[in-house]
Amino acid sequence: MSDCIFCKIISGDIPATKVYEDAGFLAFLDIHPVSPGHTLVIPKQHYDRFETTPPEVVAELYKLLRSIAVSIAAGAGADAFNLGVNNGPAAGQVIFHTHVHVIPRKPKDGLESWGSRDYEGTEMDEVAKKIRAAIKQSAASRE
Ligand code: 5GP
Ligand code: ZN
Repeated sequence: MSDCIFCKIISGDIPATKVYEDAGFLAFLDIHPVSPGHTLVIPKQHYDRFETTPPEVVAELYKLLRSIAVSIAAGAGADAFNLGVNNGPAAGQVIFHTHVHVIPRKPKDGLESWGSRDYEGTEMDEVAKKIRAAIKQSAASRE
């Protein structure tokens, strides 16, 4: 994708501080880190978001994360990390090339998790029902 920043990083047209690379994937430091060592792990093929990324690529991506995320955190002096995907504009996605954030975390590092709320009345059951139906419909459409 010619206008994609991450594709330009893959092609070398834009510089990046790379920490891992193989034939299919690249990991490089986020230019505006949440914490030191904040890394983005991306497939080299362009897909704009989670649901347009082939399941096998998602599987390979998370297999790679399983192998390098601990070392990314360790290299940053941390033994904890958040894995994050901002999927879609409402979720804060700004770069439309599939990527996973690895954010090293330390005790009392001052970072806050997202907030939480309580369900009201039958809301929890209702939303669960709709989610089950959506999953069923999606599975049926794949058959
Ligand atoms: P998201 O789309 O998940 O919200 O975040 C995209 C991330 O990409 C941001 O955290 C942002 O700092 C990072 N980013 C955007 N442009 C560049 C760039 O040119 N180089 C690097 N290394 N990171 C970038
Ligand atoms: Zn791209």
